[in-house]
Amino acid sequence: MPRLKPRISPARAALAGPMKSDLSMFDLIILGSGVAGLAAAQCAQKYGKTVLLVDKGRRLGGRVATRRKDGFVFNHGTQFVTATGTAFASLLGHARRFGCLTDWQVSPNKTVQIGAPTMRDLPQFIAKGLDIHQQTEITSIARHGEAISFFDKDGLVACGHQAIITAPSPQSARLLAAPYPELAATASLASYEPCWTIMLGLENDDGITPMPLRDETAGIQFAALETSRQNHQRVAAEQIRPALTIQASGAWSQQHLETDPQDVIDSLTAIWQDITGHRLGTIVDATAHRWRYAKVSMAAPETAARLSNDQKLALAGDWLGGPRVEQAFDSGQQAFYALKASHETSNAH
Ligand SMILES: Cc1cc2nc3c(=O)[nH]c(=O)nc-3n(C[C@H](O)[C@H](O)[C@H](O)COP(=O)(O)OP(=O)(O)OC[C@H]3O[C@@H](n4cnc5c(N)ncnc54)[C@H](O)[C@@H]3O)c2cc1C
Repeated sequence: MPRLKPRISPARAALAGPMKSDLSMFDLIILGSGVAGLAAAQCAQKYGKTVLLVDKGRRLGGRVATRRKDGFVFNHGTQFVTATGTAFASLLGHARRFGCLTDWQVSPNKTVQIGAPTMRDLPQFIAKGLDIHQQTEITSIARHGEAISFFDKDGLVACGHQAIITAPSPQSARLLAAPYPELAATASLASYEPCWTIMLGLENDDGITPMPLRDETAGIQFAALETSRQNHQRVAAEQIRPALTIQASGAWSQQHLETDPQDVIDSLTAIWQDITGHRLGTIVDATAHRWRYAKVSMAAPETAARLSNDQKLALAGDWLGGPRVEQAFDSGQQAFYALKASHETSNAH
């Protein structure tokens, strides 16, 4: 990953005052390459803005995630997407035309939409043409005159005239507490439930029902055989191996938040076997992933501030709308248009 510029520390940057022109200066910097950040960035690009996305993760997409290991493919975050509004429905329509979205029958009378060939292909589709720096964890944000500066542990990453923050609300609250307390206050109003997810690579999946399993009272929110996803013929060239992804309910995950990952694997495997009555046989590979901020349990109220007092920084993320990808997407677009409107108003005066 190329570094943007040599770094200077937050203290030196503060002493230097307004940013010098030789530093990386963008119209808009977006923290987070999840669906909210990508949606905002696509809008910005459409209007000819210079935009940079920074994200701490190894890969883009945030919680719309796919992990590959030794021929196994696990969709260990979002399981499927649904659209109720026109903006997200239109995006899904485009993705489908480009072969990045397909259907998955999850019960005899329910079909949902999934990324193709994997869930991460959907954010990758939205990300086309964007300038994204992964593995860049922002540790502080500061205001310097007309600019907003982003720092990681090595110093200054880049500066923007405007910014959008899309991290989950507790992380946004921490980053914004000093420079934008009015927005940190908004972030403190939202909350999430966690989700323990286990990924089991199997020797074979004979006899396992292809329909996903849900049993919240037993502790399972969603469990699916990865090979049952209708689109797997597109991955066939990679010969994906039998794999089972099991996601615990919010209540179970909260109760076991600090449990050792191996114990989580053993417990959720046992619960799944008890419910289905199926013995899994040889488990070739087992991994647990804890999503600390998985699904929004309480969204910030619409009346709370989403734009900073100086009109330069906007909030986005599912926690401003609700627990689904569509709400993240909508929030990203709304954040961009709020900044655009404030910029036009200030230019008119
Ligand atoms: C297990 C699970 C199952 C789900 N199932 C579904 C489902 O079936 N259907 C559905 O619609 N939704 C589902 N969701 C919810 C859905 O994934 C989210 O609503 C949506 O992806 C949120 O997008 P976002 O862009 O708001 O946040 P995120 O995807 O979390 O993106 C935020 C990004 O900010 C980055 N970041 C945070 N802090 C920093 C920092 N300091 N510096 C740099 N980068 C930073 C993170 O790395 C992350 O990539 C599920 C979520 C989980 C976890």
